[in-house]
Amino acid sequence: MTCRWVISLLISSCAFASTAEPDWRQVEQHAVELLSQYVRIRSVNPPADTSATAKLLQSELEAAGFQTKLYVSGSGGRTNLLTRLPGRDHSKRPLLLLNHMDVVPVDAARWKIDPFGAQIKDGQLWGRGSLDMKSTGVQQLTGLILLKRLGIVPPRDIVFLATCDEESDGAFGAAWMIQNHWDELNPEYVLDEGAVGSRDLYASGKEVFGISVGDKQVLWIKLHATGISGHGSQPITENANDILLQAIARAKAIGPWDKPQPVIDEMRRKLGTFASNKFMNAVQQNTMSLTTLRSGVGDPPKPNVIPSSAEATLDCRLLPGQNAEEFLSEIKARVNDPRVTYEQLSHPADPGASRTDTPLFAAIREAISKDHPGATVVPIIVPYGTDSQKFRLRGAVGYGVQPMLVDAATLGTMHSDSEHIPIDQFRLGLHTYFNILRSDW
Ligand SMILES: [Zn+2]
Repeated sequence: MTCRWVISLLISSCAFASTAEPDWRQVEQHAVELLSQYVRIRSVNPPADTSATAKLLQSELEAAGFQTKLYVSGSGGRTNLLTRLPGRDHSKRPLLLLNHMDVVPVDAARWKIDPFGAQIKDGQLWGRGSLDMKSTGVQQLTGLILLKRLGIVPPRDIVFLATCDEESDGAFGAAWMIQNHWDELNPEYVLDEGAVGSRDLYASGKEVFGISVGDKQVLWIKLHATGISGHGSQPITENANDILLQAIARAKAIGPWDKPQPVIDEMRRKLGTFASNKFMNAVQQNTMSLTTLRSGVGDPPKPNVIPSSAEATLDCRLLPGQNAEEFLSEIKARVNDPRVTYEQLSHPADPGASRTDTPLFAAIREAISKDHPGATVVPIIVPYGTDSQKFRLRGAVGYGVQPMLVDAATLGTMHSDSEHIPIDQFRLGLHTYFNILRSDW
């Protein structure tokens, strides 16, 4: 066979493969069953026992012909699962499909529906992890299996990594894999949880799909006020509680960040007026929440004793580009009180936002537009932290994509006692994810 014939045969087989369509009815039905089984496994963190979830996903992958590896990263069943689909060009660094199998605990008494029942009711699948992020894990897994089943060879290797420990900062999950098995990962691109589509979350009355390109930085600060103790019957200005409250009020009055933030600026250009809700409020600026207060003498604290010390923690979330040390310096300058000392509990590194001029970003935009014509697709910053940040710090381009249209109220059920997802959107997202994965990036 001449070289030209070989090339034309390869091209035609690739073209055939890339346009092949799965039997979607069967695929959707299977994926819903798999998600239900997945939600029923109580992979609560702590203790992050993901041995059963890893086995479930492993058996799906192995049935489809994948070789898998399980990495036990800690005691109590902490297990990470990895597999790889070889691509055409091995000189290119892989695309990493990143998802976490662990879920946050439940307050079972407050759930009206069994949090681990995976009940489908009123078009919604209910349960812990349905939104965060077992649904996206199943969409990634399904897309990967479909590529293999249809003989579609991706442009570069795809690595699938399901981790055990995202909800406690990833020490046994993504961070552990990065530290111990970086050579198996080394991604150029990461697809992870992050942003969804919505008609009311981003801009009121506008269908918008966010693709997260950056996380806010987490800066935790402990403030400690020192005063003079005394009898509650005779107020004094050296009351540590008063000193602390004044310091907090001054810290919270810190001005808005006035430098340009390219991602937020692009969001404004594309969306116009942002929706008024806590999510969008947090997306567009540095924020500060007073999360703990500790004071008083005795246990329980005596109402008639003025304490000599009091402390509080501030959970500050900073935009990419904001220097954390400068932010803390500004707080100190504003408080300007020698009776207050500071302890910086976290030291965020800022990888900045991932760039959007990549073929993968274009593929995500195109796949979303195919299933949601008329939707505006925008890069966004997410107010919370995700494991993508750990890979951005290693030079990877990380995008957070959960291709489902949900309203702000549904998104708000994440980590709550009524977590659920619209099942039709989960099904449609299977198509979107597959279309992303079979594109040329
Ligand atoms: Zn999550």
